[in-house]
Amino acid sequence: MGPLDDDRTITPDRTTKGPTMDFDLSAEEREIRDWVRTFVRKEIVPLEPQVLERERRNERGLTAEELKTLQDKARSSGFFGIQTPESHGGMGQGAVVAALIEIELGRSFVPFRFAGEADNILFSATEEQQETYLRPTIEGTRRSCFAITEPGAGSDARAIRTSARREGDEWVINGEKTFITGGHEADFVMVFAVTDKEKGADGGVTCFLVDRDRGWASTPIDTMGEWGPAALVFEDVRVPHSAILGEEGKGFELAMRWIGKGRYMLPARALGSCERLVEMGMEWARNRVTFGEPIANRQAIQWMVADSAVEIEALRWLVLTAAWQVDRGLDSRQSQSMAKLYGGVKANEIVDRVLQMHGGMGYTRELPVERWYRELRLLRIYEGTDEIQRRTIARNLLKGHASVRGHLG
Ligand SMILES: Cc1cc2nc3c(=O)[nH]c(=O)nc-3n(C[C@H](O)[C@H](O)[C@H](O)COP(=O)(O)OP(=O)(O)OC[C@H]3O[C@@H](n4cnc5c(N)ncnc54)[C@H](O)[C@@H]3O)c2cc1C
Repeated sequence: MGPLDDDRTITPDRTTKGPTMDFDLSAEEREIRDWVRTFVRKEIVPLEPQVLERERRNERGLTAEELKTLQDKARSSGFFGIQTPESHGGMGQGAVVAALIEIELGRSFVPFRFAGEADNILFSATEEQQETYLRPTIEGTRRSCFAITEPGAGSDARAIRTSARREGDEWVINGEKTFITGGHEADFVMVFAVTDKEKGADGGVTCFLVDRDRGWASTPIDTMGEWGPAALVFEDVRVPHSAILGEEGKGFELAMRWIGKGRYMLPARALGSCERLVEMGMEWARNRVTFGEPIANRQAIQWMVADSAVEIEALRWLVLTAAWQVDRGLDSRQSQSMAKLYGGVKANEIVDRVLQMHGGMGYTRELPVERWYRELRLLRIYEGTDEIQRRTIARNLLKGHASVRGHLG
């Protein structure tokens, strides 16, 4: 090996050590991934025509009973609480395995998820709170929702106005939350309120666990997706001091921990959808004949396939790198933002291309492409919009917290 540009010579020690980067899966990871792949192929994909038909009638694709039957079937094979610690009855898997599973689940639009998961911040609840909220959530007997967004505070979450006023041993909550996923179905809410106006997000926001029977109201919001979030109203809702999750004034950190938990998971699911969409597009292109030839023979179509395949591959490594960093306990925030941004942007470009390949049929509700088109659009908005991810990525770089050389330096 000759001298490098900067006159350094690669030492034999460095070159003969052998590779330390391993892009392969362990036998266990492969086994888990393959099990889920088979489950999706055998149990989930066959439900697709029925799910599409129901959703066209404005009904839920899967009833609660059907979802539970599928979840129980998976549980009997050990698939329960993928990331839930074994001490809580889960599989205790890491981020890479969770991402691999999410990619497989993303290959179908059937709204299936494995049972046994709970919001990460509930694990830091007190023993008593864990009994009332965490364990029933893991068992699926109670449903949670996470409420920080307000009509006047979305990207700028620090601007929330919902307040909690202390009266003796109670807190009185007032305010409005919006776009809360599962907010109309939830049994309890993790709601973020200002408890010290002076401090605001810097030590003056607190998270409360509030049961529905404490009196908060919810109204579903109709969206372009198949199932909508809800608006929540708190009018003099009283809770005991023991309803605080974590510490008084430390709610904003909890909210960021919840949001930051799985930014790689959303693009992982989209990645699976993109794989399936491109496969569907190729199948269509091989069979659709125009001007005497399958459209697959046309360069315009081939470029759509090629660009999509390259982007899917790039997304795979962004997602898996972020997940790998989480498993290693490294600071993964920059990688997670990159995976979320790239996944949102590219999944939308890919589904648009696949819809285009299908021509008029792509625009109909007979095929699931238009459904995916609407669903994937959300990825560019929630849990940090594209613009907010760009803001985070650029700020990390400009402040020197991250390098364009990536995590290898
Ligand atoms: C289906 C759905 C489910 C959701 N689920 C939940 C949930 O469970 N819990 C919850 O609390 N919230 C939830 N949200 C809320 C979601 O996180 C917010 O909608 C999102 O953060 C954007 O906030 P906003 O809608 O107020 O838009 P805004 O913050 O008003 O942004 C409007 C536009 O301005 C851009 N923008 C804002 N600030 C900047 C800036 N500094 N620089 C450049 N551009 C900027 C944004 O990127 C966006 O394009 C959900 C939303 C949807 C649609």
